[in-house]
Amino acid sequence: MSDCPFCRIVRREARADVVLEDDDVLAFRDVRPQAPVHLLIIPKRHVDSLAGAADGDAELLGKLLLAARDLARREGIDATGYRIVANRGRGAGQTVFHLHVHLLGGRAMGWPPG
Ligand code: AMP
Ligand code: ZN
Repeated sequence: MSDCPFCRIVRREARADVVLEDDDVLAFRDVRPQAPVHLLIIPKRHVDSLAGAADGDAELLGKLLLAARDLARREGIDATGYRIVANRGRGAGQTVFHLHVHLLGGRAMGWPPG
């Protein structure tokens, strides 16, 4: 989508600190980190949220989680623990309507989230 901020990052029309890229997935550091490690993992193809994913996107969705697994190891938060979050809808706190998985780690986290 032309006016989607994350599509603009995919197209390199907007700057981001990219930490992983392959044919289908891009990951970059959150511009307002909520933890010492805070990455966003997105499909390069525009999908507005998990609700916009199709049954045929199963492999793509799996790739997002496997990227989170690999990045957690690379960022050194695998042993201490990390959280993955995908907000769907404004009521859940979604502010960017391009599906993204937050990977957060490097500090203790409470449960349930606020
Ligand atoms: P959400 O509230 O789940 O939609 O998360 C959106 C996240 O994207 C927030 O944590 C923002 O800080 C982050 N964000 C927004 N714009 C950018 C950007 N241009 N580069 C990196 N992170 C961004
Ligand atoms: Zn987009």
